[in-house]
Amino acid sequence: MSKIKVCALFRPLNSKERDGYGDKICIQRVDSESFVIKDEKEEFEFGFDRVFYPGSPQADVYEFLALPILQGALNGLNGAIITYGQTGAGKTYSLEGPSIMAEDVEKKGLLPRVVDGLFEAIKLSDQAKDYTIKLSMVEIYMERVRDLFDLSKDNIKIKENKQLGIFLSGATEINVTTSAEALQILCSGIANRAVGETQMNMSSSRSHCIYMFTIQQEVKSDRRSGKLILVDLAGSEKVEKTAAEGKVLDEAKTINKSLSALGNVINALTSDSPGKANHIPYRDSKLTRLLQGVIGGNSQTALLCCCSPSPSNISESLSSLRFGARAK
Ligand code: ADP
Ligand code: MG
Repeated sequence: MSKIKVCALFRPLNSKERDGYGDKICIQRVDSESFVIKDEKEEFEFGFDRVFYPGSPQADVYEFLALPILQGALNGLNGAIITYGQTGAGKTYSLEGPSIMAEDVEKKGLLPRVVDGLFEAIKLSDQAKDYTIKLSMVEIYMERVRDLFDLSKDNIKIKENKQLGIFLSGATEINVTTSAEALQILCSGIANRAVGETQMNMSSSRSHCIYMFTIQQEVKSDRRSGKLILVDLAGSEKVEKTAAEGKVLDEAKTINKSLSALGNVINALTSDSPGKANHIPYRDSKLTRLLQGVIGGNSQTALLCCCSPSPSNISESLSSLRFGARAK
């Protein structure tokens, strides 16, 4: 049975929420591992490995959630950090901060911290020259995988072989040698994502974005390789069944299917059925197929359930928190 670190994160109220409900928030009795969320009628209590409430420093999220996974990846273990939640809940902010290049140290997101942490650790190790770091960035939209470093590659296949495990066939992999270089490359991927969105007339909240670091280390004649994947999932919000049609409905169905597939994979990994080997349904979506190899087994996985603290978003917050609670 695998264990997944599951955390809840509440971003600060935004101005629209303040206009509607003033300073009112729907969470109470918060401590570092539990809280109560309350609507007009009912109270729901949740427990997680860690709760980050409005105003929690981004550094805390990094240290608790990402640092152990990063250390594993430097030692040849795979890992994944997945952000889940409705659009506007703080997934991208948690990963990128105000922007990847933001100078404000306090506001830096997980990605720039992971990049800095990675190169810092390599610099401090006495085998710095034995490490190679490669970056790939893809987006999954309507079950198609697009290369964010080369938009002409818009239908990347996910394949598997003995040597590489699961891999993106033909996807661009860029060697990076410094933190500044890695951040620059990530920025170009994010910029390409925006270009692709305009071309296809879609919103980034409707696709999954996958940041993939491959960390190789040559130890004598042996080669160790750890993969670290960060995932900015598509928004988990339900669309109005009656209002949605055509493309919007197709997108919603596809997102729903892949997020359910992710939930099913996580549940299969974390539920112990003694005696018999559990079937893990990785093949039910591109997302889960790509994550095969970085979640489960001896990989380390963290799920960050991002939520609005506003009473106006309580039903979506509850749904995200329940997704997280099921993963425990
Ligand atoms: P998502 O990616 O889940 O759709 P975003 O990360 O883009 O949502 O968050 C929406 C907005 O909320 C951000 O642009 C930012 O202004 C604000 N926000 C989100 N998380 C935080 C946070 N932890 N601290 C401060 N502001 C935040
Ligand atoms: Mg986002």
